[in-house]
Amino acid sequence: MRAYKSKVVTPIRLPDRDEREENLQQAGYNVFNLDSDAVFVDLLTDSGTGTMSENQWAAIMKGDEAYAGSRSFERLQSAVSDVMGFERIIPAHQGRGAENVLYGALVEDGDYVPNNTHFDTTRAHIANNGAEPVDCPRDGALGDEDEARPDEDDSAFAGDLDVEKVRELADEVGAENIPAVLVTITNNSLAGQPVSVENVREAREVADELDATFVIDACRFAENAYFVREREEEFAGESVADVAREQLSYADALVMSGKKDGLANVGGFVALRDDPELDGLHAKARERGILYEGFTTYGGMAGRDLEAMAVGLREAVEESYIEDRVSQVQRLGDMLAERDVPVQRPTGGHAVYVDAAEFLPEIPPERFPGQALVCELYREGAVRGVELGSFAFPETDRPELVRLCLPRRTYGADHLEHVAETFEEVAERRDAGEVSGLEIVEEPEMAELRHFSAELRPVGGSEERKEQGQEQEATADDD
Ligand SMILES: *Cc1c(COP(=O)(O)O)cnc(C)c1O
Repeated sequence: MRAYKSKVVTPIRLPDRDEREENLQQAGYNVFNLDSDAVFVDLLTDSGTGTMSENQWAAIMKGDEAYAGSRSFERLQSAVSDVMGFERIIPAHQGRGAENVLYGALVEDGDYVPNNTHFDTTRAHIANNGAEPVDCPRDGALGDEDEARPDEDDSAFAGDLDVEKVRELADEVGAENIPAVLVTITNNSLAGQPVSVENVREAREVADELDATFVIDACRFAENAYFVREREEEFAGESVADVAREQLSYADALVMSGKKDGLANVGGFVALRDDPELDGLHAKARERGILYEGFTTYGGMAGRDLEAMAVGLREAVEESYIEDRVSQVQRLGDMLAERDVPVQRPTGGHAVYVDAAEFLPEIPPERFPGQALVCELYREGAVRGVELGSFAFPETDRPELVRLCLPRRTYGADHLEHVAETFEEVAERRDAGEVSGLEIVEEPEMAELRHFSAELRPVGGSEERKEQGQEQEATADDD
């Protein structure tokens, strides 16, 4: 149940079907090209898209815009200290800015960096500094290869780091070439699955064995702490705030995007433990902060942004907030599962992942079933999700997933109902053989970026026939 009500509202509008069809064509069947005004329920991302509280908006008025030594920075520092237990912070404009600051100071050419699963920007920053990012998830974390739907074990910590894989990596490449061990909570690239406190303790041990810095990517630390309280026996009955502090206490450093569990629209930071052994890293990271982000008391943010994030961090571990947040995602997962939509279960903390290959079995992988589903959801309900399968990740054998990511405190039960009904309509079209696959007509040079900007067109189904019909009409008009 939402323990809040609306005070400021943003009107949204459901365009009619003809408009949606036209928007989709004009967007080149790529929903990144849609205007947000053309979207009714926007589940593209939970990054910076949430709703701020009245306390956050009030704090914004208190933003101290001094270049150095602002009160707003002090307030952020004390929020990070109270909520996360870290004393030293280097602010950055968003998470990837913080990654650039920290990883540029921590890793060098020829290094190897293990992580439970590298999030895209993490992978890119590790690689950009000449090091090799290595994913070490638990085997079969999301069910085995043959089983599209993972185990439905609600007690699972499918996001965990496999510490044995880290030890094997060290045997192979030498501990001296592993400067850092990373754990991402929740594991965003692995369906937002949680990581146990037990696992973080093991990661701490292995980092000590390798004499490596232990970094937690804490973007969704509050969602993760909620799962720990629900699933890890040792923490039953504890407050999410206490669990979060306990879990983070094992790390030397944190990387944080304020756009996630900072409940803000922008911002981020690196946090470092106040430990003399980390003085060198702190000095280096501060320098990089000034070079790339801004002076160390604002880091690319306005004073008011620091204020919004400071309040947001405290709100993120409030029981009423976090309970509503995680259960809303679970509810959407349940609603889709009830309608025979193949969703990954248990759901993670921020999004529901749909197996598009299973939902649209007639569409072969080379026709992008995930992207076809994303287009159908827009066509039938002006719902925007995102493809995270063979279109977004060419030449990998990732499952054909579509992610429906819920912005924080933004949509209500009726919006979730609309999404579920949209799936019913897509299923009807599928059963009538009306859903077609897609082919790429234009793509950028960097294949890794193609899902942001490539353009596509439908092939092999009724949509293609319709488009061809329209093209012929257009040609006829020209004549
Ligand atoms: C979003 C995210 C980042 C990057 O943060 P931005 O604010 O988008 O730059 C890094 N790591 C994880 C796990 C994230 O989810």
